[in-house]
Amino acid sequence: MRVGVLGAGQLARMIALAGVPLGLEFIFLDPSADACSNRLGEALIGDYNDPELLAQLAERADVVTYEFENVPAEVAEFLASHTQVHPSPKALAVAQDRLIEKSFFHDIDIPTPNYAAVDSLESLQQAMPTLGYPAILKSRTQGYDGKGQSVLKSADDLKAAWEQLQGAPAVVEAFVPFNREVSIIAVRSVSGEIVFYPLSENLHRGGILRVSECRADDPMQKQAETYVSRLLEALDYVGVLALELFEVDGKLVANEFAPRVHNSGHWTIEGAETSQFENHLRAILDLPLGSTAPVGNAAMVNFIGGLPKTEELLAIPHAHLHLYDKAPRKGRKVAHATVRAENQKQLSELIKKLTVLADQVDDS
Ligand code: AMP
Repeated sequence: MRVGVLGAGQLARMIALAGVPLGLEFIFLDPSADACSNRLGEALIGDYNDPELLAQLAERADVVTYEFENVPAEVAEFLASHTQVHPSPKALAVAQDRLIEKSFFHDIDIPTPNYAAVDSLESLQQAMPTLGYPAILKSRTQGYDGKGQSVLKSADDLKAAWEQLQGAPAVVEAFVPFNREVSIIAVRSVSGEIVFYPLSENLHRGGILRVSECRADDPMQKQAETYVSRLLEALDYVGVLALELFEVDGKLVANEFAPRVHNSGHWTIEGAETSQFENHLRAILDLPLGSTAPVGNAAMVNFIGGLPKTEELLAIPHAHLHLYDKAPRKGRKVAHATVRAENQKQLSELIKKLTVLADQVDDS
């Protein structure tokens, strides 16, 4: 069985690493000749919309999936007309556009921050009296890790924030005074079996995820499961999906969802019985899903922009290093470490040790 993956970055790499023990082979399509998964399977190098490469991918792969959501919609449609594609082009289309995504959440009763569509400076100015300050202006498409976003603190910020978007359609949303950020990773298989991981509690800085901690028995688990189930069913979704949420005064508000394996689920590699990567493969191949039960208290720390010395990292007890084989560059995720501890106190200490090392090399 050969799995095709659009994109050959670290997420594709970890999907392949989980798939080899299941006897799977991989073929990747990515514009970069030195993408970090290329050595883990066959590499098709070129644009995502190169008709010849897409035809080869459709021909060679038994099922196609992707590691990021900014694949042109026509590409997913083309592939879906030739082979199996999971998740569906529809899930991709909803996740690619923040305005469509927010109205989709609205239609299935998942709360979001108040928002308005913006396509000119005038429409931004008109939206603000209702939304109030602070607010965040986000481009509708192509945004990730806080890119294409500006915080609006007062009416003085509107012009510069709008100009930064260079005419790209946007949404403006109320700033949520959250107590914490969490995400739920859920999995739905071709035959409709659904499993959920325990909540991840996430720490971002500068819009980029730094630390995720598994929160077994979290009081918000059931609420998050209810919301993500609605999303899975409404999209007739197949694969892993991550729903990112803000917790405000005991209530959850949706930020966005990712139609793929997610950075906040990397702790599942050593911290759950079955990792998100393996369960994604099981789901798209219609195999029975694996247990999502946590193994100990687990967390993940990202390394961004640079790498600590391997020896120093591995000297931390219970730390597992995952290098992405990517050249360090400002603001680029180049590795993560997972830790698993016996109790919460030990986990907090281990996270602290790892974040000290991460901050030493972080240039973002
Ligand atoms: P995003 O790219 O939408 O996931 O945003 C990146 C990060 O910016 C989030 O994880 C939050 O830390 C922060 N953020 C985004 N939208 C909001 C909001 N409406 N209110 C407060 N913080 C936000």
